Amino acid sequence: MSSPAFQVPSSRLGVLMVVSGPSGTGKTTLCRKLCDAGEAIFSISCTTRAPRTGEVDGKDYFFLSEDEFVRRIEQGEFFEHAEVHGRRYGTLKSFVKDNLMRGVDVMMDIDVQGAAQVRACLDELVQQCLVQVFVLPPSSEELGQRLFGRGTENQAALDLRLTNAIAEMEHWPAYDYALVSGTRESDYERFKSLLVAQRMRCELQR
Ligand code: 5GP
Repeated sequence: MSSPAFQVPSSRLGVLMVVSGPSGTGKTTLCRKLCDAGEAIFSISCTTRAPRTGEVDGKDYFFLSEDEFVRRIEQGEFFEHAEVHGRRYGTLKSFVKDNLMRGVDVMMDIDVQGAAQVRACLDELVQQCLVQVFVLPPSSEELGQRLFGRGTENQAALDLRLTNAIAEMEHWPAYDYALVSGTRESDYERFKSLLVAQRMRCELQR
């Protein structure tokens, strides 16, 4: 007797992982590490802030002048954009959708305002692929120490980041997942497990 035929999905859409959380929670490191391991592709944002020591244009960010950033807003080139810590940041449209269609998982390390824009986006592909993760610090004391320990900011910038961190923390309930930061190893393990699980979502299968 021959078995009845059925179709098994042979490809899928990519996962769009939107990751937010206050500066100093290690969210960028988490995203970068997963991308460096070849698990996903990092969405390189545009920004008007100055490069930090060691940051490379086109790898960490596309560093743009204020005029160039505004020109791109006017041309409708951004998927989302926001002002964060007094500087502009934004994600270019074409990059995200092209990769999702090709089944490549995309990692977006963006602030809560940008995440709200993505959440509100009516694009069917984006809504199908979207998963939102908020990375929380284990405590406010620990966050202060982690931010201070980075040594990449002057005191005024650090104060602004701490103030903004407190405001950003109010937004975590709007996300799908809350990752409370512990050790680097356990953060990475949980983060990667989440991506692996999301890839199996039925609506992504083709
Ligand atoms: P940093 O200056 O430390 O690299 O990033 C500052 C904040 O800007 C972080 O919370 C980061 O997630 C956010 N950010 C980076 N790129 C983007 C972007 O393209 N859009 C938005 N909305 N936020 C971004």
